[in-house]
Amino acid sequence: MALVSGMDVISECTARRQVAGAFNTTNLETTMGIIDAVERVGVPTFIQVAPTNVALSGYEYIYDMVARRLASTSVPVALHLDHGKSLEAVEAALAARFTSIMIDDSEASYEQNVATSTAARAMTPAHIALEAELGSIGGKEDDIGPEHAATTDPAQVPGFVEAVGVDMLAVSVGNVHGVAPHARIDFDLLADVRDASSVPLVVHGGSGLPSEQLGRLAEFGVVKVNVASDLRNAMIRTFGEAWTANNDEASLIRVSKEAVVSIRDVVERRIRVLNPAA
Ligand SMILES: [Zn+2]
Repeated sequence: MALVSGMDVISECTARRQVAGAFNTTNLETTMGIIDAVERVGVPTFIQVAPTNVALSGYEYIYDMVARRLASTSVPVALHLDHGKSLEAVEAALAARFTSIMIDDSEASYEQNVATSTAARAMTPAHIALEAELGSIGGKEDDIGPEHAATTDPAQVPGFVEAVGVDMLAVSVGNVHGVAPHARIDFDLLADVRDASSVPLVVHGGSGLPSEQLGRLAEFGVVKVNVASDLRNAMIRTFGEAWTANNDEASLIRVSKEAVVSIRDVVERRIRVLNPAA
């Protein structure tokens, strides 16, 4: 099927009481691995790319690659801009026909964050989902991350959601970007944020959280969980192990296919952990 809007993934997941994984791609092997896993599990999903990882190819390349692979798939999948830090990035992703957008000015003041996110909303058609971040999620991803992490203040949530008109809200409630083995969700804070929000929530940093925490997020109004580092590590590890096993390895296609399988397995496990009943 064709790419669907992020709005469709949100509504499908909400109706099924499921959580959509949001998996970052960079290249063909990662894209293949993600969609192979999605087909096995059948849960609606986001495939996403941040501007840092578009640097290898381009927004149109990413769109073409994802759309072509999805043509033979029956599971709803949206193509999402992850951490659009500027309105230029939002404009480029929309021009390339992405179906879901994140604007992230969360390191700025509350007022500036509202202003930037509102401008992104004005650029983003109503049928395209818009995610914005309130609070600032700590940790580094591709060397990008806030100088000062800050948790989401539940008191700011209703005003922010209403002023911007977001469709989903990324929150900072103990989750951390990247490989962060000690990250833990503060479920009391998450519950307060959920109670204050009229839209579903997004948790970034899915790679660093323990399985038993990931499996509870659906009960807390979370509709999307981002996972990037685990996939990247699976791909790099596959090539590293092939090299270590044989310094003369020259079958790029064999190792590339192994990388697809290793990414598929990581993604499938994550979707199942997020949706124990799936
Ligand atoms: Zn993130």
